[in-house]
Amino acid sequence: MKRGKVIVISGPSGVGKGTVCRELMKRYPDLAATTVSVTTRAPRPGEVEGVHYYYRTNEEFDKLLAEGKFLETVDKFTHRYGTLLSEVERVLSQGKNVILEIEMIGGANVKKAIPDAVLIYLLPPSLETLLERLNGRGSETEEQIKLRNSQVEKEFDQAEPYEYFVVNDDLSVAVENVKKIIDAESLKDDFRNVKKNYFGRN
Ligand code: 5GP
Repeated sequence: MKRGKVIVISGPSGVGKGTVCRELMKRYPDLAATTVSVTTRAPRPGEVEGVHYYYRTNEEFDKLLAEGKFLETVDKFTHRYGTLLSEVERVLSQGKNVILEIEMIGGANVKKAIPDAVLIYLLPPSLETLLERLNGRGSETEEQIKLRNSQVEKEFDQAEPYEYFVVNDDLSVAVENVKKIIDAESLKDDFRNVKKNYFGRN
């Protein structure tokens, strides 16, 4: 069985990464699954340990880092986030593609560690729609929203390693576009692999 791919999905806060990923997995349960990251930030109302994140202290995070448990980590908005290698392996061992819903510094680091990882950037239909969505979420203070807004454009400059840019205007279209990307990427193969498999030589 061919191993699944690591698919990174990034995009500005409020663009609907979570919604797109959930809908993709609902439509195609065997295609892919997301991982649960570790964070040092506090849970937001309604968030559940082990479902949305593993909530850990700074010290616990340091320990995991020292033990080499992370594929990548990032310091963001005064908190830390990290993708556990064990989470990636858990999904791959189910024969599925792994979806990492992470920010761009993490995405670039994943690409360095795993060159055939696929980087997808979700774009809002326009900057105005994004700001509307952000302000409508209601879970952040005005100051936090301002901080995130100012980061939107600055952040985009870091999207250079990204290979696919999917506009999330119509959810269904965005989901199907991500599905097409995963399907096409799964068909990719390496010349040396093919030579070895079919001709039994290196
Ligand atoms: P939030 O605090 O709103 O849940 O997440 C803030 C940002 O951190 C989002 O862009 C989210 O995708 C990103 N993020 C969540 N988990 C990870 C992770 O494990 N690694 C990285 N690099 N970013 C993450």
